[in-house]
Amino acid sequence: MDITLIKGDGIGEEIAASVINITDALNADINWDIQTAGMDVIESEGSPLPMRVLESVRRNKIALKTPVTTPIGKGFRSVNVQLRKELDLYANLRPCYNLPSVKTRFDNVDIVVVRENTEDLYAGIERQVDENTAESIKIITRKASERISKFAFDYAVKNNRKEVCVVTKANICKLSDGLFLNSAREISNKYPNIRFREILVDNCCMQLVQNPNQFDVLLLPNLYGDIVSDLCAGLVGGLGIAQGANIGEDYAVFEPVHGSAPDIAGKDIANPTAILLSEAEMFNYIGNIQAGNQLKDAVLKTLRDGIKTADLGGNYSCSKFTKEIIARL
Ligand code: ATP
Repeated sequence: MDITLIKGDGIGEEIAASVINITDALNADINWDIQTAGMDVIESEGSPLPMRVLESVRRNKIALKTPVTTPIGKGFRSVNVQLRKELDLYANLRPCYNLPSVKTRFDNVDIVVVRENTEDLYAGIERQVDENTAESIKIITRKASERISKFAFDYAVKNNRKEVCVVTKANICKLSDGLFLNSAREISNKYPNIRFREILVDNCCMQLVQNPNQFDVLLLPNLYGDIVSDLCAGLVGGLGIAQGANIGEDYAVFEPVHGSAPDIAGKDIANPTAILLSEAEMFNYIGNIQAGNQLKDAVLKTLRDGIKTADLGGNYSCSKFTKEIIARL
């Protein structure tokens, strides 16, 4: 099967090598359609996300993506945001759960963050009002709010989850977050077997760092979803292990939550766990459950054996950690 592998920059290169080597060893019948994106292709192709990358994902329907740097301030539009918009990948799914031998403050955390991926402040509608004032527009529509709510409830049903908790600031953003909340309420009525809960985002953050075990599936608009999912990643061991997926009607792009981490790029110390768990989820999504289980089991077994990269307190390089996973496939 042809699958697009979007190779970004920063630690993207190192973790892409890990993916390619491990997938070769898996024998999963995958043919990577490798597409480079990001800082390195701006000079040669004039854009961090050349059309050929989008065409490849449209052709193959499924992609695994390593991080791509978004330059801060002026410059190009975020590749991540652009990909999600162009392919209408409206649901961002980020499961956060404890992994073996990764020491964290809480045990038995098992939260799935479902984040709306196409609108809110990420619609990119900003303007400079005058020299001293800038404004960003927060867009929330009923259509997008209902479909992400439906996605969260369907996910809960399919994965034997008990509760969906919608997270907003509807007491302040009464119209925009109010619309998101009302849409979630309406959709919840169609799922009598899933408990429905509402919480304000500030309280949610406090509750998460005090008692994360109370949460099951969290449903959030784009900006709160971005922030809260990093918080949840921190609860279970940090960005190096946090997997993610962007899912739409026609396409799905699997990717780690973390960015290109320029501070550690090129040093062979990045943790590839997040992208490998994202890849395992990708296998499950395309129905290759055997490859998904084989890959996830090998990663967990490696961690259980105390083999860890520096971000988790270990001393294995990215490439040595990769070899240990291959040995356990
Ligand atoms: P973005 O805005 O693109 O999400 P960011 O600047 O918020 O990126 P990341 O690149 O995601 O930040 O990473 C933040 C820090 O976490 C990095 O500087 C790095 O030290 C650490 N980190 C992220 N991913 C990994 C990883 N896979 N392995 C080890 N450390 C990581």
